[in-house]
Amino acid sequence: MSGPNVHEDVASPRRTRDIIAKYGFSFKKSLGQNFLIDQNILEKIVSAAGLDETKGALEIGPGIGALTQQLAEQAGRVAAVEIDNRLIPILRDVLADRSNVHVVHGDVLKLNLGELIEKHFAGLSGVSVVANLPYYVTTPILMKLLEEKLPLERIVVMIQKEVAERMAAKPGGKEYGSLSVAVQYYCEPELVCIVPHTVFIPQPNVDSAVIKLTVRKQPPVDVRDEAHFFRTVQGSFAQRRKTIYNNLTALVGKENRELLGPLLESCGIAPARRGETLSLDEFARLSHALLEAGLPS
Ligand code: SAM
Repeated sequence: MSGPNVHEDVASPRRTRDIIAKYGFSFKKSLGQNFLIDQNILEKIVSAAGLDETKGALEIGPGIGALTQQLAEQAGRVAAVEIDNRLIPILRDVLADRSNVHVVHGDVLKLNLGELIEKHFAGLSGVSVVANLPYYVTTPILMKLLEEKLPLERIVVMIQKEVAERMAAKPGGKEYGSLSVAVQYYCEPELVCIVPHTVFIPQPNVDSAVIKLTVRKQPPVDVRDEAHFFRTVQGSFAQRRKTIYNNLTALVGKENRELLGPLLESCGIAPARRGETLSLDEFARLSHALLEAGLPS
């Protein structure tokens, strides 16, 4: 038989090069196209997702289908959303013998994912997102998945190592910021493994990490107004070197600053602290107190 064997695993350097040569594919850096060529890493990603035949897997950016193949083995159904139309015929070929995979051509940031989940995964016992994400849009994609409160069990994704560390960071360190608070409000993060840049074609400039986000059924803190809570968090980190008092002054207006000291004290937060030391619980109390005080924020 000439040309790549459709039944072989995609994730090897030779097979990936064969497919790229067969279809005359050229990588688009602007779409974050770095294809994984290491079977062991794929297995770690898939195993962290905890799939079985009763579960659905939503993949974002299947590329030439390396991860998609493994997901099709483990999950009941797979829907894979790919933006690059040049990859659609390749995916259809590579996945031709996988009857439980549906390739969707589209931009994940523009699609109605609620509808997509309903359409492809109705009747299954749970759905997880599993992906090697394009790095240029990691945060917008994850925030869309979380803010839209999609019915997801887990999100297991390969992302830039520094971003994964920020998502999992605890208060007090320099990695902890508004992204940590947002992710931890919706999920329990766990770093699965660090991945060197050498296991991709082409190689990115940075190392990666696989992170598992277990989506919470309930937020871990009591928040009355989520939009206000997140504005308070953003405001508290606006200038990292400033104290919480100074950052919040910018949020509530200078004319209200004399109210801030007592308000912070009433929340048990010393005004000289920095945003990066505040726990989710403290941010929730602060947002609540600002709302109660009727301060503009
Ligand atoms: N899953 C493959 C793998 O692991 O080898 C490819 C991963 S590659 C890092 C990211 C993929 O996401 C590319 O195939 C790229 O075309 C696709 N992509 C980029 N932006 C996208 C978007 N907004 N919506 C859907 N797919 C996107």
